[in-house]
Amino acid sequence: MRQKLAAGNWKMNGTGAALSEISTLAALTPAPKSEILICPPSPLIHRAADISAASAIQIGGQDCHAAHAGAHTGDVSAEMLLDAGARYVILGHSERRTDYGETDAVVRDKTEAAIDAGLTAIVCVGETLDQREGGATLDIIAGQLAGSVPAGVTGETLVIAYEPVWAIGTGLVPSLGQIGEVHDFMREKLEARFGAEIGDAIRLLYGGSVKGSNAANIFAVSNVDGALVGGASLKAADFAPIIQALD
Ligand code: PEP
Repeated sequence: MRQKLAAGNWKMNGTGAALSEISTLAALTPAPKSEILICPPSPLIHRAADISAASAIQIGGQDCHAAHAGAHTGDVSAEMLLDAGARYVILGHSERRTDYGETDAVVRDKTEAAIDAGLTAIVCVGETLDQREGGATLDIIAGQLAGSVPAGVTGETLVIAYEPVWAIGTGLVPSLGQIGEVHDFMREKLEARFGAEIGDAIRLLYGGSVKGSNAANIFAVSNVDGALVGGASLKAADFAPIIQALD
């Protein structure tokens, strides 16, 4: 039985003042059945982990380097995230694929580094609007899964987030049928590659304009094990109803 996961991606938002949202969220969702994760900007991870330590909220990073250490100015390693209190890291988000030209091979190397360090990797995949309109969605997802996910993963070390690029931060959401089609397809691909047991244990999140008002419908779709949430994770009052819809 896969444990549901509500993951918040704060992106490049928030200074120390925003950390009060984590204690507010803990108070609003005292004993969640689902796992709750907040991925703040790197400089806040340590303090976020201290604040959330007594609660059910976990902390994660938004990226890591593929190397363990070295001459990579401005980067952080998976070991550094773990040391700061992170337990998860988001990898291959479409904003990183676009802003930094991250290829599937880069995402795979980062995923390997994250898992080696002891983090759970949340690997993001998703098609652009052109690709969807051109009927290429499932081919794109298959290619990204094959290229971005390394060998040897398990349900503990890997989570996949399906995030259609055109749905991120736009208010547009695929139909429930479209979400279900991609999630069922990803489950089949993972089972085919890693075997039924592991393929069935890997959690599949949907991400892209999830809000309290649409969360329950999305969570009822087959093979949706939770959400990766951007904008609506910044305020505890917006994120709490999504967590409640998942529980
Ligand atoms: C995201 O960036 O991962 C995301 C899903 O953003 P939003 O919820 O704001 O669409």
